[in-house]
Amino acid sequence: MQKRVRMQNGEMLQGGKRLFNRVLDLVYPRRCAVCDEITDYPGRGVCSSCENKIIYIKAPFCMKCGRQLNRQEGELCEACMRKKHLFVQGTALYDYGSMSDSIFRFKYEGRQEYALFYGKQLYEKRGKWLAYIKPDALIPVPVHPSRKRSRGYNQSELIARALSELSGIPVNTKLVVRTKKTLPQKNLSERERQNNLKRAFKIRQNDVKLNTIVIIDDIFTTGSTINEMAGVLKKAGIREIYFMTLAVGRGM
Ligand SMILES: [Zn+2]
Ligand SMILES: [Zn+2]
Repeated sequence: MQKRVRMQNGEMLQGGKRLFNRVLDLVYPRRCAVCDEITDYPGRGVCSSCENKIIYIKAPFCMKCGRQLNRQEGELCEACMRKKHLFVQGTALYDYGSMSDSIFRFKYEGRQEYALFYGKQLYEKRGKWLAYIKPDALIPVPVHPSRKRSRGYNQSELIARALSELSGIPVNTKLVVRTKKTLPQKNLSERERQNNLKRAFKIRQNDVKLNTIVIIDDIFTTGSTINEMAGVLKKAGIREIYFMTLAVGRGM
């Protein structure tokens, strides 16, 4: 009997919440994370017709960095065969090409609301991976405080918070900070990227009690940023470092 009452209450609550969300959607209509128009499918954050424009990373992918492999030729992509990474493993959700406009708007044009969609997708499609790793924390790649001030937010932190909300894994933004204002990586060569990032990150707390963490970022390209950050975290005593990004480029 008691169980039944509780169920009815639960249903009422859910119904109430749904109504509240619907009212919110009328006041602030949600934009589709793919085409940026007001979506016909607000609960999902994407239009029903846009959902199948997204290209997901699927097996076979590189066992180290998560990059899409064209066919199962081995476990690692070419880049990972050449270069040693400091992280254990990483995973990415989207093929960068199919979501580059979306990520650009999210990062530079104030579309913070996309984080809800991204977080939901990461949880739906990579939740099992997270459950297997059992990280103690999600650590978003920090941006320099002046950049955060001018942009108003750190895009990686928004992704981490949305994912944390669903997975229950806490976000840690206190441990590592960005102390150097680095140049945007995209126009730099591999060597320039590494120099650009030297001493870019610093540990702020020394009493770390984390064993396993997942670095969260928007895009994985050459991996220089995540590698540099992983090095700093390793020195701080974190044993197992993984990463998760929204997107990964092909053959870089
Ligand atoms: Zn759309
Ligand atoms: Zn790889």
